[in-house]
Amino acid sequence: MEDQIRLAAFNWLKLQINIYNNILPRRILEEGFELNGERITLVGPSGIWKPKQFKSIPISITTVLNGPYSDKISDGFLTYKFRGVDPYHRDNIGLRLAMTTKTPLIYFVNLSKGKYMANFPAYIINEDRASLEFTVALDEEKYIGIPSESELVNEESSYYRRKYVTSLVDRRAHQQSFRVRVLEAYNSRCCLCKLNHPELLDASHIIPDNEPDGEPIVINGLTLCKIHHSAFDVNILGISPDYIIHVREDILNEIDGPMLKHGIQDLNNQRIILPSRKQDYPDRNRLDWRYTKFLET
Ligand SMILES: [Zn+2]
Repeated sequence: MEDQIRLAAFNWLKLQINIYNNILPRRILEEGFELNGERITLVGPSGIWKPKQFKSIPISITTVLNGPYSDKISDGFLTYKFRGVDPYHRDNIGLRLAMTTKTPLIYFVNLSKGKYMANFPAYIINEDRASLEFTVALDEEKYIGIPSESELVNEESSYYRRKYVTSLVDRRAHQQSFRVRVLEAYNSRCCLCKLNHPELLDASHIIPDNEPDGEPIVINGLTLCKIHHSAFDVNILGISPDYIIHVREDILNEIDGPMLKHGIQDLNNQRIILPSRKQDYPDRNRLDWRYTKFLET
């Protein structure tokens, strides 16, 4: 019966992921879905969540990226902190049971306030009572219900596949979290042209993420539309630390159609649109670093 509910939950989530592009409002997860006249909730006040219809194994675990209990990648898999310090707290017992029974769970990542990314199936594959941590592996959906020990799947290949899927999910979660937080800071508008269509917007790094100071934090981000993101990346325009847009000289002298004129040339010497909260303003030192590169070209 619980297995049936879990599968129904996965199917319901798939629909929501499509609708919300996997940025799920907490409200719909709290409300959950209806099955045979009963409401199945997917998250609740506790990070390890068990709907009332289930006996002891939870349905989901939730993590906050960059939070105080931030779950990290260890040896290719995720770690998930015990609830409290008692290994026999009912939530910890529940996750241990999920481990021994190889029960697929949902792994929610809290991207920003009230917004979640859903990943499944997630399996508890190990526990470390000394560090009060479980090890979590993500897998591809098509392998739900196929035990890794069965003759169908080679155990070693499933180990490497899960490791790969887990690191992929973790990377996506960090990218998505950066995107959500940067777009929120700029009220989903391109900071150069005000365009207000999230599907045409990117969260761009001021200092690229392969550089030492290129962290995925809001003050190292700018919300840019696709065209302006590319223009910024190839140094067709730059932004000085006083938030002024500078269009490259040769581009200013070019004569062409309305996209060049209104979309790029007219931005010269304009100020970017800043986030509503001062704490989200782009970092002047990082802008300076980037603007220096622009001037060098
Ligand atoms: Zn734009």
